[in-house]
Amino acid sequence: MMHSPKTTPRSEHLLLEKQRVQSAPTLAETFPELKSLTVDLGYYDPEGLHRGSQIKYTVNMQFEKSVFRIACHNHECVRGDFDLSNALANAVTARLDTVSSEMCCQGWRSRPTIDTVPCHNILRYKLTLEY
Ligand SMILES: [Zn+2]
Repeated sequence: MMHSPKTTPRSEHLLLEKQRVQSAPTLAETFPELKSLTVDLGYYDPEGLHRGSQIKYTVNMQFEKSVFRIACHNHECVRGDFDLSNALANAVTARLDTVSSEMCCQGWRSRPTIDTVPCHNILRYKLTLEY
């Protein structure tokens, strides 16, 4: 890949992830048995004490892809984000009605701290599934 002056480690990663998402099948194609999916997301700092925001929404199964990624809430995060694809696939396979867990962002806190300071923001999520 050519490096233009405008690309940064963050923008390169986001572009690659966007391509990975776009080339994936939709949730409806991947999980035909799944009738609806609601996600409840709580965004926390690395200590898990302070909640930045909480959002809940019903996923559009015809539109959202089976590479199911939630953006990290650290806007300078490099090579992070939360990938709930496996959690979702496991839940559907096991026919679970709800799954609650958390993920820790494995990216870097910012561009100057690549390889030194991890992001480690926390996403607490609840998936509600109907078949
Ligand atoms: Zn992050």
